[in-house]
Amino acid sequence: MSKEVIVIGGGIIGLCSAYYLQKEGHTVTVIDKSNMDAGASYVNAGYLSPSHIVPLSAPGVMKKGLRWMLNSASPLYIKPRFNSELLEWARAFNRSCNANHVTKAIPAIKKISLLSQDLYDDIKNESGFTFHYEKKGLLMLCQTEKMLKEEVKAAELAKKEGLDVREVGLDELRKLEPNVEFNVMGATYYLCDSHTTPNEFMRDMKAHLHASGVKFFSNETVEDIHVKQGRIISIQTSKQPIAGDEFVLAAGSWSNGLSKKLGLKLLLQAGKGYRINTEIPTGITTPAILAEAKVAVTPMNGFTRFAGTMEIAGINEAINKVRVNAIANAATRYYPNIKLSEEEKSMAASGLRPVSPDGLPYIGRSNKCDNLTIATGHAMMGWSMGTATGKLVSEIVSAQKYSMDIQFFHPDRIF
Ligand SMILES: Cc1cc2nc3c(=O)[nH]c(=O)nc-3n(C[C@H](O)[C@H](O)[C@H](O)COP(=O)(O)OP(=O)(O)OC[C@H]3O[C@@H](n4cnc5c(N)ncnc54)[C@H](O)[C@@H]3O)c2cc1C
Repeated sequence: MSKEVIVIGGGIIGLCSAYYLQKEGHTVTVIDKSNMDAGASYVNAGYLSPSHIVPLSAPGVMKKGLRWMLNSASPLYIKPRFNSELLEWARAFNRSCNANHVTKAIPAIKKISLLSQDLYDDIKNESGFTFHYEKKGLLMLCQTEKMLKEEVKAAELAKKEGLDVREVGLDELRKLEPNVEFNVMGATYYLCDSHTTPNEFMRDMKAHLHASGVKFFSNETVEDIHVKQGRIISIQTSKQPIAGDEFVLAAGSWSNGLSKKLGLKLLLQAGKGYRINTEIPTGITTPAILAEAKVAVTPMNGFTRFAGTMEIAGINEAINKVRVNAIANAATRYYPNIKLSEEEKSMAASGLRPVSPDGLPYIGRSNKCDNLTIATGHAMMGWSMGTATGKLVSEIVSAQKYSMDIQFFHPDRIF
């Protein structure tokens, strides 16, 4: 049965939800408080990476995070502040940093990432979708023996999970990237991964949705949600009340602010990251993660992107120059011939990742509301999981059989 569906948020998750909902025959409206041309879904590294099967909350991460907190240029930073939501989130994160959780989470992360990759393939084959999309794998470049050992261990785990990955020595690396000078000890190479140019995908998706009759209200903020007997009747935006049969909460890092209006506590923190682009040819053709520095490098269409840092400092999109410099310096440490200019650094942009405490997204209905589907909390994997999340949202709204088991993504789960 066709329904009137209102999607709150027009990032990758909101747009992919709108895409599959519209395909299912629903009437869809997307509302976004921004101009829909910036933020996490535009600044990300563009990886579709089934390789990243281990959740963010893994053994040892909390300890490393606490150590990094003392270093203003470290890849992970939690701004110390007395905030009860942050404390609750940190407690839940800490509780999730255990081997048992990792073992349970891996199959769910792998399944949703692989499903998503297949769905990107399908979309790429549709007419009108010309976005840059390549399957060239992902290198984990290591400068130290310690890190290489850790990465080889991670690769063994991924291999056991059936993913295509192997260790590569310097000779093979040089053959793979003949026009790049490296300062590394070695690498692992995930052939299962692919990459995109995010703003091109977002451009094509918005054009497709417009042409398919999806309504857009941009620069319009959802300010309130009206609920009656466990169902949303309407929402109030900065401009008008909007009624609907079904609602999708895909407001990224802002989602918990809105869920509070339903009495639903969604543990979520914004994790700020930055990107620097350079249009000067770098010779890089294979995406890479600079393993010690946690910087992602992506050859996109017409430019190379360097992206990184995870700064848990509330809803705050300000550019921290120390962190931007840390990304640029890491680039030169691994690729001695690459020097990002002051101008390129001054054009750095930020985005907020919606980070759940256990490294798994929230996808599903809360018991608090019958006609709301929540789709957020994807943290560092929102681009990789975007299409599958949209498909699952559509299956939930349409009361269809789900493409995969979603019990681990339940928005009411206890940490
Ligand atoms: C530097 C960086 C690199 C990354 N690299 C990768 C990568 O390589 N691969 C990967 O898988 N993931 C990556 N990610 C993560 C990924 O980008 C995010 O998980 C994803 O973009 C989140 O999408 P979203 O739609 O949930 O949120 P967003 O893109 O933030 O979209 C949410 C939207 O909701 C709107 N909104 C919020 N509140 C309201 C309101 N009240 N009313 C109306 N609209 C509202 C916002 O304006 C926004 O447009 C990266 C992120 C960053 C920052």
